[in-house]
Amino acid sequence: MKKMALFGGTFDPIHRGHISMALRLADELGLDEVVLMPTFVPPHKIKHSMADAEHRLAMCRVAAAPHPFLSVSDMEITRGGASFTVDTLTALTAQYPDAEWYLVTGADMFCTLRSWYRFDDIAKMATLCTVPRDGTDVQALKTYAEELTAQGVRCYVADEPVEPISSTEIRDKLAAGESTDEWLPDGVADYIQAYGLYTVVADARDSDEQYKEIIRRRLGDYRYHHSLCVADEAKRLALRYGADEKKAYTAGLLHDIMKDTDRKSQLQILTDFGILLDEVEQQVDKLWHAKVGAAFLEHILQVKDRALLDAVRYHTTGRAGMSLLEKIVFVADFTSADRRYPDVDDVRRLSDISLEETMIYTIDYTIRDLLGRGQSIHPDTLAAYNERILERQTGGQRDE
Ligand code: ATP
Ligand code: MG
Repeated sequence: MKKMALFGGTFDPIHRGHISMALRLADELGLDEVVLMPTFVPPHKIKHSMADAEHRLAMCRVAAAPHPFLSVSDMEITRGGASFTVDTLTALTAQYPDAEWYLVTGADMFCTLRSWYRFDDIAKMATLCTVPRDGTDVQALKTYAEELTAQGVRCYVADEPVEPISSTEIRDKLAAGESTDEWLPDGVADYIQAYGLYTVVADARDSDEQYKEIIRRRLGDYRYHHSLCVADEAKRLALRYGADEKKAYTAGLLHDIMKDTDRKSQLQILTDFGILLDEVEQQVDKLWHAKVGAAFLEHILQVKDRALLDAVRYHTTGRAGMSLLEKIVFVADFTSADRRYPDVDDVRRLSDISLEETMIYTIDYTIRDLLGRGQSIHPDTLAAYNERILERQTGGQRDE
């Protein structure tokens, strides 16, 4: 039976300590393959000096190349959002059903294992292994491992630590212009140099760049392009109507984040976060992505801005009492540069004159379109429509 190990880490960057750990365990346990799994890092946790996920992945590939027993997986990075080890292991064991699995963690992580999400399931799927880290108490590790063993968990603790290297120290040295070549696997120093990684000054990166990476992975070409266009258009409207341009841009980027996600995964997210679909939503699955998108942003990407979440949440249906940002994203979805429908130019001109009139026009269009196709109309859309018609009749001027 093939013996395989999962070795997850930020690998920012991967260093000789990581490779030595993998080599050591492969040797001591007779592992056939160690899968390096760079973890996805949610945007709110990204520090300015961090390398992009693609770079972390590429450096792992460079480091693994000379070692036939080392492989690299992009599973967690491609999945996007926080990944639980239990899910990754489940996917891997399904992919390699005949293998015996090991889970490699550094000493700092090993002693927290019992508190990991669904630890019992993790322990059923894999033998838990660790290598002491410089400064960790080997005896404490062994005691922890003995407690686990007493509970019937399979574990393994290597005796000797590997080189006392950390990615943090490497990043700090690189930022200070010092060489770290001796701590890096062959080829990785050249890679870092070639891409100028870890030398970036603080504000050179921003979260929108990270969000673009995430939606790029989650959306098809057409939808990705559309999202960029809606972001630009939302920014333009924000400038025109006095809203926060940066927030409008971000909301535009993210509004369709779940649009290309399959039904089953969308339902899973709704279930995970206890979100219910109303009667109309149950019938019309095209409406799900707005609700699921807001939930994904809030719970997985940890976006905390309620106004932004609501702009995503209501971008398809609208609702009564919409905020300026909600209206902007709603309208931008109709007037973005990529949109092609017969009177798009008129709607764009109108959007320059009155956001409210554009809202009425687009909601009217949406309702007619749905009626024409015999589809249900979401009550929030009707509420948005009625509110405006009433205002118009009473002569209200609602443009900000
Ligand atoms: P950072 O300083 O950014 O936390 P790191 O060097 O700890 O980086 P990670 O990507 O966090 O690297 O490491 C993945 C796993 O490898 C972690 O579980 C970590 O504890 C372990 N590890 C990293 N370096 C060593 C080392 N020198 N000795 C033992 N374990 C290590
Ligand atoms: Mg670490």
